Amino acid sequence: MICLFPDPVLQQKAQAIDSDQFDSVKAIEEQLLAALQPYFPAAGLAAPQIGISKSVFIYSYDRDPAHLETVVNPTFTPLSDEKIVGWEGCLSCPHLAKVARYKCIKARYYSGEGILVEKVLDGFAAKVFQHEYDHLQGILVINRPDAEVKTFETKEAMQAFLAEVKKQDAAHYKKP
Ligand SMILES: [Zn+2]
Repeated sequence: MICLFPDPVLQQKAQAIDSDQFDSVKAIEEQLLAALQPYFPAAGLAAPQIGISKSVFIYSYDRDPAHLETVVNPTFTPLSDEKIVGWEGCLSCPHLAKVARYKCIKARYYSGEGILVEKVLDGFAAKVFQHEYDHLQGILVINRPDAEVKTFETKEAMQAFLAEVKKQDAAHYKKP
């Protein structure tokens, strides 16, 4: 089950996975996949969204479930000041929000197996990584200081708007 705003677990900082805790990552990864599956194709899901306050998320650079990657204890540095402003949906939020994200970042994290990974992410991959990273800090997209929040009268209206957003996102799919 996916936790919804204003569940407190979504608004607290997730704990890092210690080096002797990597055995626990597999189970978290499986729960994340099971929770996200009904929404495939989907961009990503962070452990706090399923009530686990640990620094783990899964994400896909192009919403293809085959490209979902497990990310543990992530950090990132922007590679330039350039930002892209765009709409983002979130399975934990009832509304959409327009926010600015760094276009290009260097991500540093551990794989589910505990291997250190460094990757340059551009476009949609960078956007999703920053969205999921925010979840681990207890920040929801609708609570970002720069967020322009859009509410909808009906679920159908939101889905129609989201479909347009996804089309625009597809122009920024770039394999890391
Ligand atoms: Zn989210």
